[in-house]
Amino acid sequence: MSNSLKINIVTIPEEGLSFVLSEDGEWFKGCVQERDYPDFSLQKFDVNCRISIISSTVFIKGNLSVLLNVYCSRCLENANLSAAGDFAYTLIPAKNETEKERELNAEDLEIGYYDGEFVDLTPLICEQIILQIPIKALCREECKGLCPQCGANLNTASCNCQRGFVNERMAVLKDFKVKN
Ligand SMILES: [Zn+2]
Ligand SMILES: [Zn+2]
Repeated sequence: MSNSLKINIVTIPEEGLSFVLSEDGEWFKGCVQERDYPDFSLQKFDVNCRISIISSTVFIKGNLSVLLNVYCSRCLENANLSAAGDFAYTLIPAKNETEKERELNAEDLEIGYYDGEFVDLTPLICEQIILQIPIKALCREECKGLCPQCGANLNTASCNCQRGFVNERMAVLKDFKVKN
């Protein structure tokens, strides 16, 4: 991992530390193995968060927004997509944890660890970027997709295909008599 956003916890003031980062897709590529490069393109992302510390527990709260370039899963057109979400992490010193406690905390995704005096924001930011990637990307919510018969993009064109086959199947279902 080439990216490193390590913050020395000693430098976190009592009132907290504000952290802002704007980067592009190249930065994100440093987070993932080459073979795991996702099939979308991250244009840019913005992170805005606040880091505070109470005794030795570090709290990170913020917001991440992404601008993605994706292929719509309905019409296959290229489209820009923006998404955003809030996040919160609680990081505790790794050395204070027993193996048992670690196992219990592993189920709580918002609890993490830091080693020594440094908190690394890189894995948290990468995780948040991944969480904003839609499983099925759409160019827009109401995308009409492609005609299943002729392949025309129904957002921009119309075609003369009969779209009766779905209704025919429904008609077959209607012929079944349901016993009461
Ligand atoms: Zn679409
Ligand atoms: Zn058609």
